[in-house]
Amino acid sequence: MASLFGNGGYGYSSGSEGEDEDEGTEGYRKGGYYAARPGDRFAGGRFVAQRKLGWGNFSTVWLAYDTLHSKFVALKIQKSARDYAHAALHEIELLSAVAKGDPTNSKCVVQLLDHFKHTGPNGQHVCLVTEFLGDSLLRLIRYNRNKGIGLNRVKEICRSVLVGLDYLHSELGIIHTDLKPENVLLVSTINPAKDPVRSGFTPILDRPVGNQYGGTVISFSEKMLKMRARRAVAKISQRRVSLGGVATEVEKERSLDGISLKCKIVDFGNACWADQQHAGEIQTRQYRAPEVIISSGYSYSADMWSFACLAFELATGDLLFAPKSCQGCSEDEDHLALMMETLGKMPRKIASSGTRSKDYFDRHGDLRRIRRLKFWPLDRVLVERYNFTEPDAQGFADFLRPILDFTPGNRPSAAECLKNPWLN
Ligand code: ADP
Ligand code: MG
Repeated sequence: MASLFGNGGYGYSSGSEGEDEDEGTEGYRKGGYYAARPGDRFAGGRFVAQRKLGWGNFSTVWLAYDTLHSKFVALKIQKSARDYAHAALHEIELLSAVAKGDPTNSKCVVQLLDHFKHTGPNGQHVCLVTEFLGDSLLRLIRYNRNKGIGLNRVKEICRSVLVGLDYLHSELGIIHTDLKPENVLLVSTINPAKDPVRSGFTPILDRPVGNQYGGTVISFSEKMLKMRARRAVAKISQRRVSLGGVATEVEKERSLDGISLKCKIVDFGNACWADQQHAGEIQTRQYRAPEVIISSGYSYSADMWSFACLAFELATGDLLFAPKSCQGCSEDEDHLALMMETLGKMPRKIASSGTRSKDYFDRHGDLRRIRRLKFWPLDRVLVERYNFTEPDAQGFADFLRPILDFTPGNRPSAAECLKNPWLN
């Protein structure tokens, strides 16, 4: 398991988000991804693959058509190696509990509909069928060109995520351990044409004949035609801009108006019952809580830390903490330094409480290798770097700062955050 859960090495790489970023071909080997094609049938023919929706380091996720209930679903096809299969079975266990406790599907966590195994050339793949959801929050952030989506939208998304976290934490006893923008999906797609129901898409029921790749491979000439068409569209909208409309076509294309911001938490591949934690590091680097870095034990409050990082990213389009290793210092130390520059010095008692504290801190609670910290508090960062107004910066920073308390036990719970007047 260490290779899966131990080092967080899968970092920020998890993709499915950029138009040109895909999972690559490397993962398609024994023990790896299943090479699905549109028209492929699963579970004795019941589910038919339509197109790929996304991917992570554990799986590819496909839009599929459920011929039994005549509806579209998401099919997560796990890599086949034993550790991945094990993780998927664990995910099924947790998502079954999630579904059982939420019969009305109102708790902002993805609903598991079915699961089965599928054998292919690369091995046996555990598959999860869930409700079909829209784009991830990372796609939303990128769609808006990383400019921040506005505080009212941030608040709306925060409410959904907190409802989900409160359900997981206080009703189920589950810690997600990998909360980040890729793992929160909007309920609807940003582009209505990508929603099979809204766009009136006719489901593919057979693999197209005469093409062994089932239509996933587009010939070179087709690609050229598509590119030319795209360029032509771009030229037209350019012309509209230069003709001087007030709201330009280009801007209109990127407006977030009318996009539903209701969202759900997905990806329970790393989640755990609070009383059965996996050893070692959790969370994707940038969303990792300080107690995880120094190994002093973690609980639900580690998810709250990631939640605050996510909220900041929605509001600014930038990561709250983007640590890098530097000469003579590790990524962990840089990360702790960045936290202290934004949030103040870590209390000595907390700094010394982890099994790895001595690697980073001296006995005064100062970092061993990074000595001069430049304190730049959150509200100032919001004003000076992101041009927030003073009241907006104050309000947002006052909401975030308690959730980013170095003492995990001091952080408000998701339920407490939901009562914060800033959200309402
Ligand atoms: P992994 O464990 O491999 O990271 P995820 O469960 O995070 O897998 O899914 C990978 C990606 O697939 C997500 O980031 C998202 O883009 C897409 N995806 C996952 N579940 C759904 C769903 N229910 N509806 C639509 N897209 C999904
Ligand atoms: Mg994921």
